[in-house]
Amino acid sequence: MSDRLRIALQKKGRLADDSFALLKACGLRFSVRGGSLLVRVKNMPIDLLLVRDDDIASFVSNDAADIGIVGENVLVEEQLTSALDAQIAMKLGFSRCRLCLASPERGSVQSAADLSGTRIATTYPGVTGRFLKERGISAKLVEMKGAVELAPSIGVAESICDLVSTGATLEANGLMAFETILESEAVLIRSARDMSPEKADLFDKLMRRVEGVIKSTDSKYIMLNAPKSQIVAITALLPGSDSPTVIPLAGTEDLVAIQAVCTETVFWETLEDLKALGARAILVLPIEKMMS
Ligand code: ATP
Ligand code: MG
Repeated sequence: MSDRLRIALQKKGRLADDSFALLKACGLRFSVRGGSLLVRVKNMPIDLLLVRDDDIASFVSNDAADIGIVGENVLVEEQLTSALDAQIAMKLGFSRCRLCLASPERGSVQSAADLSGTRIATTYPGVTGRFLKERGISAKLVEMKGAVELAPSIGVAESICDLVSTGATLEANGLMAFETILESEAVLIRSARDMSPEKADLFDKLMRRVEGVIKSTDSKYIMLNAPKSQIVAITALLPGSDSPTVIPLAGTEDLVAIQAVCTETVFWETLEDLKALGARAILVLPIEKMMS
């Protein structure tokens, strides 16, 4: 393969936009307009291979790409059903969903205990089969490529095992989830093979940037003025920050300015609690990039 780092990404779908946005936030400049399969990143030796999500793990495994972004659910399924040489390098925190068992609200299957001897429709026979085996349940898997939620109403299966994010699709089909068998989010994967030193360097650099983007997404810079006597109490309230900067304020003896990076979500409740301790002029600012 060329010395350009090749990243396999979903071309269109639930992973695509956030994957592109993440890489752009990492400083990669590219444009995905048009139907091309291979997109050249303008400012770094990186190419993007735009494919269906089903192909991403096997491309990484077969050396058609160096790294990829795919749903953990798809990765685990393929690890269970084919020999795959691809592993998680980093969890990315978007495209979160759960693989759930679900059944009609008043059907014969209401919990995992009712599954024996029934049929389960799914696109994920590997993960579903693993769950059944672990629980010692013998049920028949009916493999479907899509529209799994229709299986009970057309009499193909008594229950389904499918991805759920909000539950709206299940509800619209009169189904209720009764067991989560896998939690999933987008993951960055790489093969276990060694990369050339140049690619390995670029990969490490990209990983640090991805880490920086993920950290900064949840992080905020908080600034406020407070009575000197409350520095300790206020510092204790700041979510996920260690030693804040404390600066004297001109023209006053008893007030200071406190500034800190909060690495966890700053809720309205936190601001209200800070105010109750005497904090004033509280500002919460977004952070664009971070590197420690
Ligand atoms: P492709 O055309 O690339 O094969 P697809 O139809 O198989 O796409 P999408 O529906 O775009 O796949 O979903 C891609 C991934 O997004 C899933 O594998 C899963 O990891 C994640 N995802 C998040 N929420 C959901 C959801 N509610 N339903 C399905 N997938 C979800
Ligand atoms: Mg797919």
